Amino acid sequence: MKTYNKSHKLDHVCYDIRGPVMDEANRMIAAGEEILKLNIGNPAPFGFRAPQAVIDAIASQLQDTEGYSDSRGLTSARKAILEYAKQKNLPNVTLDDIYTGNGVSELITLSMQGLLDEGDEVLVPSPDYPLWTASVTLAGGTAVHYMCDEQAGWFPDIQDMRSKVTDRTKGIVVINPNNPTGALYPKELLEEIVQIAREHDLILFADEIYDRLVMDGEEHIALASLAPDLLTVSFNGLSKSHLLAGYRCGWMCLAGRKDHVQGYIEGINLLSSMRLCSNVPAQSLIPAALADQESTKEMLVPGGRIYEQREFITNALNEIPGISAVKPKAAFYIFPKVDSKRFNITDDETFVLDFLKEKRILLTAGSGFHWEQPDHFRIVYLPEISVLKESCERMADFLATYQQA
Ligand code: PLP
Repeated sequence: MKTYNKSHKLDHVCYDIRGPVMDEANRMIAAGEEILKLNIGNPAPFGFRAPQAVIDAIASQLQDTEGYSDSRGLTSARKAILEYAKQKNLPNVTLDDIYTGNGVSELITLSMQGLLDEGDEVLVPSPDYPLWTASVTLAGGTAVHYMCDEQAGWFPDIQDMRSKVTDRTKGIVVINPNNPTGALYPKELLEEIVQIAREHDLILFADEIYDRLVMDGEEHIALASLAPDLLTVSFNGLSKSHLLAGYRCGWMCLAGRKDHVQGYIEGINLLSSMRLCSNVPAQSLIPAALADQESTKEMLVPGGRIYEQREFITNALNEIPGISAVKPKAAFYIFPKVDSKRFNITDDETFVLDFLKEKRILLTAGSGFHWEQPDHFRIVYLPEISVLKESCERMADFLATYQQA
């Protein structure tokens, strides 16, 4: 009998939402144990609901079923995205530069497949949202990680980024606001990144899916707005800001200069046509969602759920002996440091696994985000404060005696 294996293209893809921790979590669930999942940025299970205007739009769209749309997306959706792109000062974007996708995820993969050949390099942050490294790798390229510096509020280390550019570098990925750190980058820092891209003719990839989830009165600056002379591929969507993760609704805008990237755009158009189009009912929600940005803002100010949960988790974690955490400015993630010497941690996945087995809470190890030291983990702080409190108590209790074998 012939045996079948996964494609060799996947051999070097590291995408850590599987492995021993997930296997154990699934085993525990199958055995009827209740575990608390603080491992995935999915708002719906924690009682977050899409804004009413979007729910109304869903109901009315069901009457008008359409077939496939234009492969880039419905004109009505792309007009709303164009309007949003203008609000964010994205330069030189027309309707033809906008592509809707089944979530930002599909477009991240598509943008890498359309560009990379064997040996091409892309600078990706460490820690990263791991789909970026996986997509670069799957497209045949090499993800070269630049460091983000915890001591500097998790901002990218510009010297490190600069030192990692080679003749083979094609682009720089910037995830701002950041998953997993919750950092929001200031304009001066973004300008320094743009300058590196400018000096080396690189394409910028700006993953800005959390741009509407910013706290403390700060403003998100779109990377493309600082680089009219370069191509920026900028990514956004409704999974997080409008709590519509399951609808699979994202988009990508090609902003800035394009005369030198016509071949790449041809590749993107080809790949976009090959998937026919993205989910049309999801696209049809974009105008209503982007017209309603107030519902999102309510969660992010004092008294709002995300804001209050952020305050709570940051303080509670920092009170646990052996844990320290930089306060996030945006999104709903925190990336605490665990004192690996104190607990003899040499493998962060084992740490997360031991915690899961003993305290029935599922976290993600830092290595899942291409963080090399075994001394970080990520918490999604979407659950209510009472649940976060219970989680931190269990963590404190666990660490009171933990020593990795
Ligand atoms: N980019 C970042 C930084 C994310 O954190 C996520 C999801 O967690 C995505 C992209 C994917 O989002 P989507 O649901 O639009 O595929």
